Amino acid sequence: MSDAQARGIAAASTPAAPHELGVADASRLLAAGRLSSVELTQALLARIDAHTDLGAFLAVDAAQALAAARAADARRAAGQATPLTGVPVAHKDIFVTRALPSTAGSRMLEGYASPFDATVVARLGEGEEGGAPGAGMVALGKLNCDEFAMGSGNENSAFGPARNPWDRDRVPGGSSGGSAAAVAAGLVPAATATDTGGSIRQPAGFTGTTGIKPTYGVCSRHGMIAFASSLDQAGVIARSAEDCALVLGAMSGFDARDSTSAERPPQDFHAQMLAPRAGAPAGKPLAGLRIGLPREFFPAALAADVGDALRAALAELERLGATLVDVGLPRTELAIPVYYIIAPAEASSNLSRFDGVRYGHRSTRDGDLRDMVSRSRAEGFGAEVRRRIMIGTYVLSHGYYDAYFVQALKLRRLIADDFRACFARCDLLAGPVAPSVAWRLGEQADDPVKAYLADIFTLPASLAGLPGMSVPAGFGAHGMPVGLQLIGDYFAEATLLHAAHALQQATDFHRRRPA
Ligand code: GLN
Repeated sequence: MSDAQARGIAAASTPAAPHELGVADASRLLAAGRLSSVELTQALLARIDAHTDLGAFLAVDAAQALAAARAADARRAAGQATPLTGVPVAHKDIFVTRALPSTAGSRMLEGYASPFDATVVARLGEGEEGGAPGAGMVALGKLNCDEFAMGSGNENSAFGPARNPWDRDRVPGGSSGGSAAAVAAGLVPAATATDTGGSIRQPAGFTGTTGIKPTYGVCSRHGMIAFASSLDQAGVIARSAEDCALVLGAMSGFDARDSTSAERPPQDFHAQMLAPRAGAPAGKPLAGLRIGLPREFFPAALAADVGDALRAALAELERLGATLVDVGLPRTELAIPVYYIIAPAEASSNLSRFDGVRYGHRSTRDGDLRDMVSRSRAEGFGAEVRRRIMIGTYVLSHGYYDAYFVQALKLRRLIADDFRACFARCDLLAGPVAPSVAWRLGEQADDPVKAYLADIFTLPASLAGLPGMSVPAGFGAHGMPVGLQLIGDYFAEATLLHAAHALQQATDFHRRRPA
């Protein structure tokens, strides 16, 4: 632990290698004219090339990235840069992009070329068609993910797994495994990701990166390939809360093309995050902040290494002035069956469009229309996606709809009510992201239910639509990273980021890099 001033001096005297730069670092060097976007982009493209064994990227277009970098340098020279102009980014392959393939990690969409960019991609890049100019970030490529974002280890990708840079025999988490692996390995300073039931927070936790899923509706879902529409939300994986704030701000804001988008303007999360808490004395930036610890998030069965790392991080938050409060989320266990009814139900409906006619892979075997559709779907979808479609179709079918789907909707409301009761007594909630550190590749392959159970700490906030973060909190078994989860009230992203930033000013876990 070093104080900010000492670090500032160290940073100035030892210039970091391009792959060590975070978003804010790169932004400062670009603004000072000490680095060009072309130089930074070239360095990262070379590093991506040297680390293809990580399976992080599904597509890279070097020529396009360099053209965007040149345009960014020209925009900066013309005095029209935003803080993000020229900073490289990469997109989870669940966002559609005109310039690069969009597969959602599925054979079903192999060869698909989108006629438009997702809103989030456009806002970070050149801007929406006919709209204001975008942030001017340089897109390096598309990142691996579980097929249609269904999974927790990136092992359900049709294009092979992504690997954890801390131990290549372990998963990077999922479904945004490629985003997390790329950021942890220094292939890109920040990546877009999506979270339906934990897919930003859990891979960030497994790779020692920082991830934020905002309140449902803060980022547009337009052009995000749908998994479970009432839960899907875009966010960021980066190497610090500050970097997350910069990128999330540029992605945020109302979009008329998404009917569930929140009617709020884009937010300057970075400025909000840096604003000191009213009345907080020096050295106690979190004075007055009440952090609730839900009892159900600290069960006796929680792995000892995870518990130890969390307790140390919570002690640090207390030292920074926060007060820890005992609270309860009594329906935590129910979040698993509720999510694994609602998410597959919505998925079965969303994925019905992939029939080999309007969208998707078409089987070439002989047969009538019915055979053609069912063969196309059987060939195009992987095992986990087929399992979810079958479960979803079952819980929505006549005779089971009331018993499963409607019950799940009622319980979802009660889970949200439990959070409401907590937020009457505290400002943030804290707990683990996952019950253990990253598991070994293949370890959960033959038991999907085991992976579902490991989602227990991320599903409740997703069902309630609340914002959540994963912040590096140290290391556990096998030297693997442990994530601290922070959950905020609706639209309390700034409070979340402020607390995470304060923790990162006092600790250096987020700066540790795999060898
Ligand atoms: N692991 C969860 C699932 O498999 C969450 C995935 C996600 O958030 N996209 O559905």
